[in-house]
Amino acid sequence: MKKWVYFFDEAAAAEKSVGGSWDGVRGLLGGKGAGLFDMTRAGVPVPPGFTLTTQACNEFRRTGKFPPGMWGQALAALKQVEKRTGKKFGSSSNPLLVSCRSGAKFSMPGMMNTILNIGLNDEVVEGLSRLTNNPRFAWDSYRRLIEMFGATVFGLDDEVFEHPMGEHKKKKGYQLDTEMTAEDWKALVGIFKVEYKKHIGEDFPQDVYKQLELATQAVFESWMGKRAVDYRRATGISDDLGTAVNIVTMVFGNMGFDSGTGVAFTRNPSTGEKTMMGEYLLNAQGEDVVAGIRNADPIANLSTHMPKVYEQFMKITSRLEKHYTDMQDVEFTIERGKLWMLQTRNGKRTAKAIVKIAVDMANEGLISKADAVRRVTPDDVDTLLHPQFDDAARKKSEVLAKGVNASPGAAVGQIYFDADTAEKMAKEGKQDVIMVRPFTKPDDVHGMIASKGILTSEGGATSHAAVVARQFGIPAVVGASAMKIDMERRLMIIGEKTITEGEWMSVDGATGEVYLGKIPTSAPSLEEQTDLLTLLNWADDIAKLQVWANADYPKDARRARSYGAKGIGLCRTEHMFFEPERLPIVQDMILSDTSAGRTQALDKLLPYQRKDFDGLFEAMDGYPVIIRLIDPPLHEFMPDEEKLLEEVVTMRVKGDPSTGSGQADGLPAKEKLLAAIRSMRESNPMMGLRGVRLSIVMPEIVEMQVRAIFEAAADCTLRKIVVHPEVMIPLTGTVKELEWIQPRLERIAATVMEEKKVKFIYKFGTMIEIPRACVTAAEVAKLAQFFSFGTNDLTQMTFGYSRDDAERNFLVTYVEQGILPKNPFQTLDREGVGMLMKWAVDEGRKTRPNLEVGICGEHGGDPDSIEWCHLIGNNYVSCSPFRVPIARLAAAHVALKYPVKKVAAKKVVAKKVVKAKAKPKAKPAKTVKLKSKKK
Ligand code: PEP
Ligand code: MG
Repeated sequence: MKKWVYFFDEAAAAEKSVGGSWDGVRGLLGGKGAGLFDMTRAGVPVPPGFTLTTQACNEFRRTGKFPPGMWGQALAALKQVEKRTGKKFGSSSNPLLVSCRSGAKFSMPGMMNTILNIGLNDEVVEGLSRLTNNPRFAWDSYRRLIEMFGATVFGLDDEVFEHPMGEHKKKKGYQLDTEMTAEDWKALVGIFKVEYKKHIGEDFPQDVYKQLELATQAVFESWMGKRAVDYRRATGISDDLGTAVNIVTMVFGNMGFDSGTGVAFTRNPSTGEKTMMGEYLLNAQGEDVVAGIRNADPIANLSTHMPKVYEQFMKITSRLEKHYTDMQDVEFTIERGKLWMLQTRNGKRTAKAIVKIAVDMANEGLISKADAVRRVTPDDVDTLLHPQFDDAARKKSEVLAKGVNASPGAAVGQIYFDADTAEKMAKEGKQDVIMVRPFTKPDDVHGMIASKGILTSEGGATSHAAVVARQFGIPAVVGASAMKIDMERRLMIIGEKTITEGEWMSVDGATGEVYLGKIPTSAPSLEEQTDLLTLLNWADDIAKLQVWANADYPKDARRARSYGAKGIGLCRTEHMFFEPERLPIVQDMILSDTSAGRTQALDKLLPYQRKDFDGLFEAMDGYPVIIRLIDPPLHEFMPDEEKLLEEVVTMRVKGDPSTGSGQADGLPAKEKLLAAIRSMRESNPMMGLRGVRLSIVMPEIVEMQVRAIFEAAADCTLRKIVVHPEVMIPLTGTVKELEWIQPRLERIAATVMEEKKVKFIYKFGTMIEIPRACVTAAEVAKLAQFFSFGTNDLTQMTFGYSRDDAERNFLVTYVEQGILPKNPFQTLDREGVGMLMKWAVDEGRKTRPNLEVGICGEHGGDPDSIEWCHLIGNNYVSCSPFRVPIARLAAAHVALKYPVKKVAAKKVVAKKVVKAKAKPKAKPAKTVKLKSKKK
């Protein structure tokens, strides 16, 4: 006959029946059951008992009845318990009481039912009272049983019993349960029985076996209770698993002051400190501790109250920690001086404690460094690095709007609707500012940097606002479309609410939620988090992928380096063009009709750019720095066409407001500018004159940039800084483009080195962000010495979705409807974009086996996308400096998940290596055979 019931000391039989795996035992006996079996086997004092399997639960759910043989096996096991305890179920002279507890494979705290004190009836209660010489305890236990039984087996409302109890206490003038005497509890049992019959229609069962049977059924049924089902939906636990039922001998902590009960964590669950943290109550039952009816004592006090028990408890818990190699959350009861362990499980803890415990346990030799790295998730690291809202305060606040969670962290500030005001209020007004815009543009960056948070009503995960926010680690919510911003009246409307400029708001970049008012936050820093730093160093030793950073300015590069970046994977040079003293020169250059005119303006820009690059090389001394040549369409550097038109019309009608003369002296210049801007207008600028196309049409700009890069690199070399410039040509679609532009630029590089009489390693390579470049990668790699996947554009062009509009218009619906599993601008679409990337890597390396491959799109900081980059053999991922620690951990996780045999690293030979100084090199991870399947 099938075995439905296992005694606590039958761990070996349970293991055998599931083929030897402990995971299988957990599946069969539930987590709680498996823990009890495991503790029993380890010699820990566990009250005798047995477990009805999850298979029995599933049979019960299928047929509505206990499976044949199960109840007989349960009764036989109960006999065994009687034998071991020397007590008898239903006997009034020496009664055995049991609890009936749920326990699924995965912990579902409080979601299913438990009934305590089964085995009490009108006779047994008298016996128990005599035997223990403690009638108060006996009657209190009986009333608890009636209460729990009514609520659990028959679903009675708590009020049914709480109301008469409240009335009784009021009548007696009691405040606390502890004031109730034996007589009071006895009277209450009488009242409870009447209430029970009134609501259920029959007497409370005096047959103790009936009690046990109904309780078991109720626990099985609670698997499909609403609470449990909702919890499983939210946590992804399968309905098919079922719950086990644990029948455990009751031990009592309320049998006098030599008894007690408590809960404890073997380490501090909020800090991770290696100190036992917990509390206990003498003369009390389990739920009294949880309910906080009386002030519990800290566990350390037990050493004075019951030194022997304390010593035993510390020994047992330390053994349990070693056995499970993790921090344990235990429940215990002391019955007349004897310690019983009722439960042990891995304790829940904060992100800070997760890291500290993992690092400490590895240092203690309990787990390996790899295990420690495995135990910390990228989300934990994210949590530790960004300011967080106080959880209780956040829960009390009303969510006003929701948008895309573009850049994590909590921000609180006064809102301003344009970059200049935001910057002014932050710098001069010393205010905490949240910049609110419909969307942002490059000339808003100064306001964004000055702000604590960014909020936009339009745009998605790769919108300008999102990219810049992540780059600078500023919390941001974008595309919160419920917000209607009225720039004229300087206010915004969300639903019924009107919010004016200067009001306080709180923005949660991790969840995309927006609140009115101030929610308290706390802010950590990486440098202070020594455990996290240790863990990340271990992660680096494991990872095959290196982590580089996207950084435009030396200060960002320094931060990236301090966060562990091993290179700069993308410096977007155009951001430098927006600085106030440079923009007019850039505009002059754009407006020049001749190459000579352009060169004249560019000559003025060159010193600025050289200084920028010099700072970057210095910050990244010894590491590679990839500088991307100008990418955006030129109109982005010009004034806003609509605004200019307005000025022209005003001047035509009223003259020049700046002179107040009524004369429109500046009008011809403005008209010329307007005409120029109009002539540049494109219907589809993202697919227009930008990237390498712009370099071919107007080579002067990139020629200046390359000169600035090489002059800066040469100057740094002369100052003994080790430079590895890598010049990146954006938006290549055909190798012919590279054939046209690259040799010109290489000539400049050679000329500068000649002029400065210095030599250093450098590379020319390209971004891969157009599907055609992926498909023809073997050709492209003939010129490109490195590839860097620009997956923002590559996703845009592969799907044909506008990266600026898709999230606002349809992506959310697509994800909701299951047309797309995730937002492809946040997580790489492996089947489409990902396969193009894989093809590009494989083909590229056919031409150039040591081709350096990276990614610099926003996906470079996303753990799932990092996994893909590892699998296709990237050398590195590059992401915002603030995501570098997360990426380092994610890179280690994927290396642990897909271990590859060590391959001899081939030397990466750079073109024209003249004076090669040892440089940290990223080894390509050996490509793992891929299934074309989404994770
Ligand atoms: C990309 O397209 O992925 C990229 C990094 O470039 P940008 O976002 O500047 O277009
Ligand atoms: Mg791009």
